[in-house]
Formats: sequence, structure tokens, C-alpha cells
Amino acid sequence: MEQIKQRAESANLSKVTEVRLRLGCWENMNEKDLTAAFDRLKGDGLLGDARLLVDRKKPLARCRYCDSLFEVVYFKSRCKHCGSNYMEFIGEHGIVLEGIDGIE
Ligand SMILES: [Zn+2]
Repeated sequence: MEQIKQRAESANLSKVTEVRLRLGCWENMNEKDLTAAFDRLKGDGLLGDARLLVDRKKPLARCRYCDSLFEVVYFKSRCKHCGSNYMEFIGEHGIVLEGIDGIE
């Protein structure tokens, strides 16, 4: 929240209309929870009319045997190429502020 306000201030925005977040694929939080939290915290100043957009990346894994990259549908996923379950999970953690839009 603070980060969003700082970003808005450095861009000289008087009103923020859109906040874009990227949600790491390993976060337990879902888009709905985030939006609800945002709506609760935004108040009616700078962020009063802001809409939250959440982009969630798909979790990926790389097979350590054959090096192929595939999407993880569930945690017991196996490599689609060679069937190995020896894999390295790739993906982001945390929540990243991608950008904001607003009016000056
Ligand atoms: Zn494989």
C-alpha cells in the first residue's frame, strides 16, 4: 500500500485509477483476497477510485533429467517428456507492483 502511494506521488498523480500487481505463483493468496484487502485499505483519498488488477503467473518446473520445461498443475506433477519427478520449481514469490495508472 505504501509503495503504491509513493509511486503515485512520484508520478504526480492526483488520483489513481488502476493498480497492477503481479502475484507470485507460489503465494497462497488469491486474487479475490487481494482485491478485498485492497478495497478495505484504499480509503477515499488518492486511491479511492482505484481498481486492482492482479496478474498471476503460472507455476513452472524444469525437469532435472531431460531439461524440459512444463507447467505444474499440481505438486505431484511429473515431467511430461520423460516421466521423472525430479524437478526444479521455477516461479516468483511475493507480490510485485507492476504499475499504476491515474490522472494528474
Ligand atoms: Zn523430463
